[in-house]
Order: sequence, then C-alpha cells, then structure tokens
Amino acid sequence: MKILKTKEAMRAWSFAQKAAGKSIGFVPTMGALHEGHASLMRASVAGNDVSVLSIFVNPTQFAPHEDYGQYPRTWDTDLAMAEEIGIDAIYAPEAGSIYPEGYATYVNVEGLSVGLCSGTRPHFFRGVATVVTKLFNAVLPDRAYFGQKDAQQCAIITRMAQDLDSGVEVVEMPIVREADGLAMSSRNRYLSDADRAQALCLSQSLAAAQAALDAGERDAEVVKALVRDGMAAVEIDYVELVDAATMAPLDTIDRRILLAVAAQVGPARLIDNLKFVPSEITQGASAPAEAEACC
Ligand code: AMP
Repeated sequence: MKILKTKEAMRAWSFAQKAAGKSIGFVPTMGALHEGHASLMRASVAGNDVSVLSIFVNPTQFAPHEDYGQYPRTWDTDLAMAEEIGIDAIYAPEAGSIYPEGYATYVNVEGLSVGLCSGTRPHFFRGVATVVTKLFNAVLPDRAYFGQKDAQQCAIITRMAQDLDSGVEVVEMPIVREADGLAMSSRNRYLSDADRAQALCLSQSLAAAQAALDAGERDAEVVKALVRDGMAAVEIDYVELVDAATMAPLDTIDRRILLAVAAQVGPARLIDNLKFVPSEITQGASAPAEAEACC
C-alpha cells in the first residue's frame, strides 16, 4: 500500500494507473476509521481495479468554535484497516498544501446546501464541496464512495460531480450501525457511557418513524413530532422531513423522502437519517437497500 503525501505524487500514481487501463475507486475520509468507512472501502475494492483512501481533516468545513483541533487522529490503526481491506494507496496531504497562502477559490452548490446541517454549520458544505473537488482533481477517480449517513452531503457531491463535469460516478452506501442501532461515527469516541446511552434515542426515534411510515402515516408533521418526542432527552438541532432529491421540506409524504435528525449529545454533534419511498408510488417494492447511484 502506497502512502502519498502530496498532490503531485497522488496524480502521478493515478496517471500511471490510468495509463495501465485500470479503474480507480476512491473513498474520501477524515480518518478515525470505523466499520462505516470499511464498508465504503470494501465496495471500492470490489468495484474497481485499484482503490484510494484519503485521510484529510479538512479545516474549511469546521467553524472556529468546532472540533478541528480535537478531531480524533488514529493514523496507525487507520492504515492497518485500509491495508487489510486491500486499499492500494492512501492520500494524506498536509492542510498547508491543500490551502496554501493566498488560497481564494471555493465551490458552492446552491439549493441543496440550504437547510438541514447548513442551519448550524453555514460554511460546512462549501468546505466539503471545495475539498472533494480538490481531492477528485488529485485522485482522478472513476467512482467515489460516500455514506448515506451524511445524506445531504452525498446529494451535494452528486450534484457537484455532475455540474462540474468531473466524470466521477458517486455511489451512496447504506448507514452502518452498532449492534444497538447507533449510527457509527468518528465522533462517537467523544461520548461518555451516559452520553452513549442517550445517543441511542436518535436511531430509536427513527425506527419508530419507520414503523409509522410502514403503517401508512403520510403527514410529515405527525412523523416529525413522533421523532422529536423520542429525542426529548437530547439537545435537538433539527428534525426535518424533506424530498430526498431536492432537500426541500415536505408537508405530505408522497415521494422518496429523507427524514434527517441532528442533535448535540454531550460533547458530540450527531446526525442520523432514514430514506423512505411510499409503497403507493413503488407499487409494493421497498426502497433499495444496496449501494445505489446517489439521489
Ligand atoms: P468522515 O470521515 O466522517 O468524513 O466520513 C467519510 C465517509 O464515510 C463519508 O462519506 C461518510 O458518509 C461515511 N460514513 C461515516 N459514517 C458512516 C456510517 N456509519 N455508515 C456508512 N458510511 C459512513
């Protein structure tokens, strides 16, 4: 497994792969890897000739009061996991080389970046879209793998990849959960035992909403109220029910929807979500559970 620390080395490696006719799969991460990241890496290894993992804690997606400085860095165990899964190269640039003195260019995806996580993190998606553009330019992937856990991010990256003619196919992978339902996250490391127990209310509330949706509930307010009630013990950032394709809020569940939640639990801001397609519009087929091209 190659460790590539500069964009020049990364591009040279990728050009060599392309010259040899190989397809490149790519998994962008901020490290502190867990089974959610592993599922993306496995999909990349299975679907491409060679695979690149990036580990880069991106400063432009953190606000000054957020956890950039404290974000967990677990380089040695990350490398071991990537190697075991069969990743061919790790791209781990320095922040100073990605954003040198005088850096002035940002990517802003309109529409989809409004609402949900942008409410409390107004610069977040600009930072994500910018760094993913720059990572794509260095790695030159054919396919890139993202998690549904960050559903708004996935929709934004899909839009951006299309709009900027990147030629990258964005693949969305299902949320990987702990045995008790908690969505895996690098930030779960911040949770005390008591926080960890409280954090369960996110996935449990979504499970209750899923049951209501399966039973035929189609009023968005009713579903959101159910989730809010279930999350009463934590500091809710948002509970939103939106069109999964446009991220526009809905009153009635009459299309493919995203039900997304965010909450502060102790020191960690956690997110979780579900997607649902009403049986009326799929004539009995259920929502796809496997990897899918992003919405
Ligand atoms: P991060 O390192 O948190 O920026 O995440 C890197 C990628 O892993 C993103 O595409 C995330 O959506 C994805 N990811 C994070 N947690 C999970 C999870 N529990 N299940 C699936 N994918 C995940």
